[in-house]
Amino acid sequence: MRKLGLIGGMSWQSTAIYYRHMNTIAHERLGGLHSADIVLRSLDFAGIAEKQHSGDWDGAADILVAAARDLERAGAEALVLCTNTMHLLADRIEAACSIPLIHIADATADAIRQTPSTTPALLATRFTMERPFYRDRLAEKRGIATIVPDEDGRATVHRIIYEELCEGVVTPASKQAYLDEVKRLTARGADGVILGCTEITMLIGQDDFDIPVFDTTWIHASAAMDFALGAKN
Ligand code: GLU
Repeated sequence: MRKLGLIGGMSWQSTAIYYRHMNTIAHERLGGLHSADIVLRSLDFAGIAEKQHSGDWDGAADILVAAARDLERAGAEALVLCTNTMHLLADRIEAACSIPLIHIADATADAIRQTPSTTPALLATRFTMERPFYRDRLAEKRGIATIVPDEDGRATVHRIIYEELCEGVVTPASKQAYLDEVKRLTARGADGVILGCTEITMLIGQDDFDIPVFDTTWIHASAAMDFALGAKN
């Protein structure tokens, strides 16, 4: 089994889910006492979230690149950046290391292409919904068009991520807000739902919808374990 290097803590709520998924997959595929071979660099999210919101992406990149190098030195054979948003900096991290980065948008695109969905809704942080790094990657590399909420919807989805989910708070009111948002997006033509932030899986999931749901936390953890267990490449 190959050793995975996780850059986590963004937030730790979802890193804990990655950890559970990866170990579950190792156990399911290998049986017995097998578990995932992981090095985790878990960052303090407060300072990073501050940099995101003040637009200090260079400062955030410095922290993530240092973490990636720590993992490479610790023997990781691939990097898993446990957040959609920070893939905004994926190119810089890849350029600074000689091990591959398993990209969350590519794994998600592969999962979408196994379903009939061609125009999924994208629920995520403002950064992921509004900046081109994620939507363009899905569109240009894989031909998948995404539909995002309007300004009010994006504000609500973003606020619930940072003020609630990243602090482990899950409420029926926020769940309803997300369900209402998806209803508006399906009325605009969405035929699937990307949970494009790794904490959203705490709030909604496939059981809430009759269109395909793409849980990026699960999809990314699975893709990483495919690499670790040699199912791909
Ligand atoms: N974990 C979230 C994501 O997948 C949001 C927190 C962050 O900005 O990293 O985008």
